[in-house]
Amino acid sequence: MLKMHLPDEAATRALGARLARVIAPGLALYLHGDLGSGKTTLARGLLRGLGYQGRVKSPTYALVELYTLSRLNLYHFDFYRFKDPNEWRDAGFNEYFNDTSVCLVEWPEKAAGLLPVADLDITLEFAGDGRDLSVRPGTESGKACVHRLMQMPL
Ligand code: ADP
Ligand code: MG
Repeated sequence: MLKMHLPDEAATRALGARLARVIAPGLALYLHGDLGSGKTTLARGLLRGLGYQGRVKSPTYALVELYTLSRLNLYHFDFYRFKDPNEWRDAGFNEYFNDTSVCLVEWPEKAAGLLPVADLDITLEFAGDGRDLSVRPGTESGKACVHRLMQMPL
């Protein structure tokens, strides 16, 4: 497991950008943490790191935003408003979790039992004016990511 302190928003974005350099198609990354803990900020940093120049909005009613990037496709989910398990089936969300896409998921707890196992569980917690981050691998692919992240110069 990797732990670090993120003193400000820029640090959260920078960590997202570093993550962009170690991820590969097929990964499922879950973002845990209370409202305002920085999950969408991290998603923004990650998308910038992947070369996305546009605006990164919070996924709302559709629960998911697709980003088609040169290296990979990224689905950004936010299950904060997710209630009805039938919606999972009707929207065909299972098919989003495949070998060619990266899935980045806010509020995975709200779709527990439907989501596949995470390659990386990323947790943000309030710590003073900043945040504490932990990155926990759940699969061998996740372990390889954390390994590459730890080898990367700051
Ligand atoms: P969430 O998606 O978890 O609800 P957001 O990403 O929308 O949270 O962030 C909420 C606020 O937290 C934003 O105002 C952002 O600037 C701030 N923030 C993000 N990371 C940090 C950090 N490491 N330290 C202090 N503030 C942060
Ligand atoms: Mg958010």
